[in-house]
Amino acid sequence: MIYLDNNATTRVAPEVFEAMRTFLTDEFGNPSSAHSAGREARKAVETARAQVAEMLGADDPSEIVFTSCGSESDNWAIGGFLEQNPTRRHIIATRVEHEAVRNLCEHLAEIGCEVTWLEVDRNGELDTDDLRKALRPETGIVSTMMANNETGVLFPIEEIGGIVRDHSDAIFHVDGVQAVGKIPIDLKNLPVDLFSVSGHKFHAPKGVGALYIRRGVKLPPFIIGGGQEEGRRSGTEAVPNIAGLGRAAKLVKDFDGHEQVRRLRDRLEDEILARFPFAKLNGTPDRNTRLPNTSNISFEGRDGSHIRAQLDAAGICVSTGSACNAESREVSGVLRAMNVPYEVARGAIRFSVGRYNAESEIDETLAALTRIVAT
Ligand code: PLP
Repeated sequence: MIYLDNNATTRVAPEVFEAMRTFLTDEFGNPSSAHSAGREARKAVETARAQVAEMLGADDPSEIVFTSCGSESDNWAIGGFLEQNPTRRHIIATRVEHEAVRNLCEHLAEIGCEVTWLEVDRNGELDTDDLRKALRPETGIVSTMMANNETGVLFPIEEIGGIVRDHSDAIFHVDGVQAVGKIPIDLKNLPVDLFSVSGHKFHAPKGVGALYIRRGVKLPPFIIGGGQEEGRRSGTEAVPNIAGLGRAAKLVKDFDGHEQVRRLRDRLEDEILARFPFAKLNGTPDRNTRLPNTSNISFEGRDGSHIRAQLDAAGICVSTGSACNAESREVSGVLRAMNVPYEVARGAIRFSVGRYNAESEIDETLAALTRIVAT
């Protein structure tokens, strides 16, 4: 199988699996237990916290709270802040957020919050003046993604956070799920209050994530119970998953193959655009403001789901949009928000390269596409 869908999920790294194995077998203690088995589990959880903090450039490990996934982190950040600040019920988010933010904000709008949606242009980029104009005294939270899951377009987080801080009392939540592991992140030097992370996007297992909560920012607990995670998210810690997340974070810090990922993506993108005159890139052509692993390309006039199915039959995994809407007949909401015409959006395929891809796989994908698309 050739796997070019690393924005949907990633393979668990062998090093991560090994780090988890101990906690699925011999070291099964509960981190809250006051005996040696418990102490070993506690040590694993705190080691992982330090590793995640290091990967994100957080000031202190206590700013990291483990969750079950990126969606939970997003829901806690936005929902929690609003629960705690009932008079500040104005939210600002972008039209191209992942469903975990978009659908949550739509739900919050139904129960009395007001949402301002920031538009994007044809390249998927924001006009930060729109944010300036949207901020009000009652704005509680601004939420934007760092990297778009479908197009890879990067938002200028430093600039956005600066505007939020200079022009309001709102807090700034960043959905960093697609950025982690792909570009450097240094939260201590970014004006970000809350930052969502999902393990399965960077070679940790599914079912574990984290929320960075800058020191001094208050959120109500997401789960009330036995007081784990300093009372912020109760429930016995998923020690194997958390140990895996920590090991994956260390792999991110140590990874020296970014140039290889970028080169493979660039080659795939360049060749597709050169070979097929009806192929059009979705998202900014400026590679400095796009994830180095992602290409979203439309085969105009073709049906993307058809191409995806034929690539699948050839053993090549790609997607037509975010994994969540892969089965729906509608075109991607992200491409619609970018005003991509229907006939173009319908033919969109997202290729997302990862650390385990090889040059020969790019060759095979190009050959398969030539067979499928040119006929
Ligand atoms: N945010 C973004 C940008 C994503 O791409 C995803 C998953 O695709 C999520 C949030 C949700 O993460 P999880 O699958 O861990 O709930």
